[in-house]
Amino acid sequence: MLEQVKQDVLRANQRLPEEGLVTLTWGNVSGIDRASGLVVIKPSGVGYKELTIDDLPVLDLDGRQLEGTLNPSSDTATHLALYRAFPGIGGVVHTHSSWATCWAQAGRAIPPLGTTHADYFYGEIPCTRSMTDDEIANDYELETGNVIIETFTGRDPLEVPGVLVKEHAPFVWGTSVKNAFDNAIVLEEVAKLAMHSEQLRPGIQPMNQALLDKHYLRKHGKNAYYGQRT
Ligand SMILES: [Zn+2]
Repeated sequence: MLEQVKQDVLRANQRLPEEGLVTLTWGNVSGIDRASGLVVIKPSGVGYKELTIDDLPVLDLDGRQLEGTLNPSSDTATHLALYRAFPGIGGVVHTHSSWATCWAQAGRAIPPLGTTHADYFYGEIPCTRSMTDDEIANDYELETGNVIIETFTGRDPLEVPGVLVKEHAPFVWGTSVKNAFDNAIVLEEVAKLAMHSEQLRPGIQPMNQALLDKHYLRKHGKNAYYGQRT
């Protein structure tokens, strides 16, 4: 299982530039094998094209490195905080993808405006509060995770599998590495659509709740019927 997670994490990191989600090395993907509690993550500062499976650091949930000689991503503490707080998630993707980052920099949640959004995100994609100077000065990456977790108090992180960290960029997750990666692609698309929709119609309101419910719930949850049964 850990070997499969490594394969998935390698492939997902390689796909970040292929899908236009990153500039330089501004993004990282991790995955967790829940059976062993081990996390695989991109090493820090290594180009996506040079990455090999043996480069991938393996850590436990407390951040102890068990495999690999390269330092893990500088965002590792954020990823680990999310895995500890959200037991249903299997993968985390962090990028500075342009459209989603515009919303993060504006400090605005992305409102649900249409079915593209509703198929993947059950309501607005929230933006965190500003981090305090103390949080920035001390354990910044861990505190980034904590401010995300705080934003999801009373919300189901699998119903809205992503967040905008204010003045930073998106973190997206999913039930697996592949699912998290799909959600990261969709978040970027939804951010672009929402920004243009607001320009075309200033003051646009969130979509009809019945339509949001229909599109989200036909793909997710116990009464889902979209796609093929396996
Ligand atoms: Zn970042």
